[in-house]
Amino acid sequence: MARCLTPEIYAKLYDKATPNGYTLDQCIQTGVDNPGHPFIMTVGMVAGDEESYEVFADLFDPVIDDRFNGYPKDAIHPTDMDASKVRGGIFDDKYVLSSRVRTGRCIRGLSLPPACNRAERRQVEQVVVDALNGLEGPLKGKYYPLGKMTEEEQQQMIDDHFLFDKPVSPLLTASGMARDWPDARGIWHNLEKNFLVWINEEDHTRIISMERGGNMRRVFQRFCDGINKVEELIKAKGWEFMWNEHLGYILTCPSNLGTGLRAGVHIKLPRLSKHPRFEEILENLRLQKRGTGGVDTAATGDTFDISNMDRLGQSEVQLVQRVIDGLDLMIQMEKQLERGKRIDNMIPHPASKV
Ligand code: ADP
Ligand code: MG
Repeated sequence: MARCLTPEIYAKLYDKATPNGYTLDQCIQTGVDNPGHPFIMTVGMVAGDEESYEVFADLFDPVIDDRFNGYPKDAIHPTDMDASKVRGGIFDDKYVLSSRVRTGRCIRGLSLPPACNRAERRQVEQVVVDALNGLEGPLKGKYYPLGKMTEEEQQQMIDDHFLFDKPVSPLLTASGMARDWPDARGIWHNLEKNFLVWINEEDHTRIISMERGGNMRRVFQRFCDGINKVEELIKAKGWEFMWNEHLGYILTCPSNLGTGLRAGVHIKLPRLSKHPRFEEILENLRLQKRGTGGVDTAATGDTFDISNMDRLGQSEVQLVQRVIDGLDLMIQMEKQLERGKRIDNMIPHPASKV
């Protein structure tokens, strides 16, 4: 946001508002209050509703273009949730400790978390939980509202990597997303805890498929099956997800537009992570490194959360494939270093711009 917002753009947009009354100042508040993040490059602005992306397009468009390594204004975003198209994706458990794919989905007609009022937030909770109660078989599950959990239960769920963190991140608080916490927030999950839905954190919903070990293939398959069913159930209740051809699924943070998909693993790379070109390798593969406790934790030690950097302009299948191929290469490099060999001839070239 700070790189893209010029006095001219500000002058053009400062007195505009979406039909719900959301303004440019509200969109950029989080970036104004938080110039930079200790661990990752963040976007510095959010949407308050689906219309924010149109009304403030003069700023959102260049921010989106910059964030996704090039995304033209007339581009059409592809969707592909056919998990059978993915090649490979079963990693050695010696390196990959857990695999996870998440996305977000928001309900058309209700304001996004930075802007919604209590009534809208509770409506989101009701619509989503109602729909999720229709899931059957291995996806059948139960809703656990944050307000009804004990402190210990909540902390245990966070420590086990199932639940979103408490609203400690200034990014969340500055954007207004943490108002009325923990009202209408919660987590729904199936019995096996491998299909989970967060309600009213950064987006209306975050939908997650995860499990221990390196079977990203199976995790992505469950992700696609689960989301397709959830979407049917939401539609059956007369609601739909925010979506358009250009931006794909509409979510609160522009960094999640398109697929909203973050496919990642917790991976142990004691040698490669100390290689002087580790950051360059990640960058060239368009992969992002986080700490294993989530985005607000430091990526130190031998084990990292490594996931796709991009979400827009490529389909779910393409993004997951990129993560699989990138991780295969990184594991090969780790093995090469284990043997005491050099990896200079294995360094990938920079990803080309869209
Ligand atoms: P998100 O992009 O889903 O908001 P965060 O970085 O905020 O992700 O992390 C949310 C939670 O998910 C954290 O507890 C984190 O440890 C957990 N998590 C993320 N990726 C994985 C993974 N591959 N395996 C296990 N847990 C994970
Ligand atoms: Mg998050």
